[in-house]
Order: sequence, then C-alpha cells, then structure tokens
Amino acid sequence: MEIQIPSLLRIKPHALYKVGKYLRKSGFHHVVVYYGTGIKDLLGQTIEISLDSSEITVAVEEEVHTNAIEDVIASAFRLPRDAQAIVAVGGGVAVDFAKYAGFLTQLPVVAVPTAISNDGFASPGASLTIAGKRASCKATIPYGVVIDTTVIQGSPAQFNYSGIGDLLSKYSAIADWKLAYHTTGEPVNDFSVMISMQSVTNLVNHPVKSVTDLDFLQLTAGALVMSGVAMEVCGSSRPASGSEHLISHAYDRLAEHPSQHGLQVGVATLGTLWLQQNPNLEIVRRVLDETGFTAYVSEHPLERSTFLAAIAAAPAGRPGYHTVLSTPGAVERLQTYVETDPTWEAFLA
Ligand SMILES: [Zn+2]
Repeated sequence: MEIQIPSLLRIKPHALYKVGKYLRKSGFHHVVVYYGTGIKDLLGQTIEISLDSSEITVAVEEEVHTNAIEDVIASAFRLPRDAQAIVAVGGGVAVDFAKYAGFLTQLPVVAVPTAISNDGFASPGASLTIAGKRASCKATIPYGVVIDTTVIQGSPAQFNYSGIGDLLSKYSAIADWKLAYHTTGEPVNDFSVMISMQSVTNLVNHPVKSVTDLDFLQLTAGALVMSGVAMEVCGSSRPASGSEHLISHAYDRLAEHPSQHGLQVGVATLGTLWLQQNPNLEIVRRVLDETGFTAYVSEHPLERSTFLAAIAAAPAGRPGYHTVLSTPGAVERLQTYVETDPTWEAFLA
C-alpha cells in the first residue's frame, strides 16, 4: 500500500498571497482553479495577483456550486491535458470536487480551504452526491494544503467551533477502534492512533483557546490536516470517526434542519465518551466550554427528539462497524443519560 501525504503544507497568516509562489516552488506553472460559491468575488483577486506575480497561467477556472458526482466527472474530462495541478479555493464542496477531479485525472490537488469546519480538506476521501444522496468516495489526499489563518479568523465562528468539535471526537473514535480490536479483532494501526492523538493533545494544551487567536487556529488547522493523514496511513476512517460520527450521520438523515457536521459530532462525543467511561470526557467538556463551542450551541441547539432518535438509528448506518454503541443495551443507556442528565440542557432543545 502506498501512503501519500501532503508535500506542500503552509498554515499561516496571509498564506493566500503566496499561493503562486508555493505552486511555482512545487514546479507547477499551468493550473486549473476551482472556486467555491461566492469565493471568487471575495478572494479571486488576491489569488489572481499571486498567480500572476509567479507567472502561473490558469488553464481553466470554474466556480463550483454542487458536489454531484456527474458534475465532477463532466468537469474533470473537460480539463486540458497540459494542466499540471488543480487548485481548490473554498469550503468543503469545492475541495471535495477538486479531490475527486484530481483522482479521476491523476492531477495533484492543492487545497486552499477558506474554512476549517471539519477534517475533510486533507482526507483521502471526497463527500459527493450520488443520485441525490450523500456518499463518501475514495479520492486522493491533496498534494498540497495552504491555509491562510487570517482568512480562517475572519470566517464565521461556527465554522471554527465545528472544526474543534470534529477534532475532539478523535478521543471517542480512537476508543471505539480499540474496543473493536478487543471485541472483533479488527487491527489497530498504532501510528495512526499516535498522529491522531498527538494533534488533538497539542490543541487541548494550548494556553489560549479562542477562535480568534491566530496561533490557536493554526494548531486547529494543523490538527485537522493530521487527522486526514492518520486516515491515509491506516487506509480507513477509523482514527477520525467512531460512534459519535454514526450519531451525527443519523442526525443528518433524520433532522429537518441538520446543523454543521462538527457541531453535531462534538455534542455526540459527550455522549459516546460517557458510554465508553472515557477519562478524556472532562477534557472535552472543558475545551468545548473554553472555546465558546458550548455557548454557541446553547443558542443554536440540536433537536432533542431527533438526537435521541439518531442515537437509536446510528448503528444501522454502518453495519458491521463495531463501536461502543454495538454493546448490548448501550443505545438505551445513552438515551436515558441524555434524557436525564442536566449536561444536555445546553446542547438540546
Ligand atoms: Zn468528521
């Protein structure tokens, strides 16, 4: 198995101005640019100046509005043969679009995420829509990741809370993976576990936990990249996704108005860590409070009855994926905890 990791990695203030320079350093001088909806108006000029000044020409430029697989395929096959790389500037949709187009055309992808709401921008998969349904497709991990932390600082705070929720879920995901090993013998990749755990630990130990602090955002973005790398190293989503993700995916299916991925995952993590009797529960609770995640979600709570139904529906979302929710009686115990413990008043309504 060949493991790929991002070779070009820049996470710092004003990195956007240097995208051209970074591409040139990597040997690219003729590229495709995909922009997310509205992003060209916001940041297009900065990107254009940056590419121009490094004498990088744009083979094709496209604004991406959907992540429907047929649109990605159509776009990928229109790309000129002399393009050397695909640059994606935007949120999850644009980056997923580019990752799958890169997978189809074998072109390296440079992701320039404008929000860090989950670990998707550096993961080896792409979330696409197939026949109207969201599906996770195999893709290649980006060749490059460039994150301008000043852009992230200016993005809506809930995106950053969502990224933090997605990161803290690693405690629950790793515990589920170890539980699966002890119960079903599913092998654990220790290196993936180490990468995943260390990046979250760095974040948790950072003295300033504010989504407006550039250093904290740099750590958060870096940790999300490492989560993507951890998945690439073991060839599965195990180090990044456990029972808490199953609950969030079920909530997506059941809720009339689903919330953001990492917000749902962060809330679900409080439940799955409790079920696991995981000693990191207090750390997660504290970081959610300190960063402002808890305050934000208490103003935009998840639907209580849908959340309870999502707990019950979670295991069926991924048959054969052993987690703490596979333990007999676990679903009912977690539902009772959610219904009776005051913790949940801040997150559900
Ligand atoms: Zn996630």
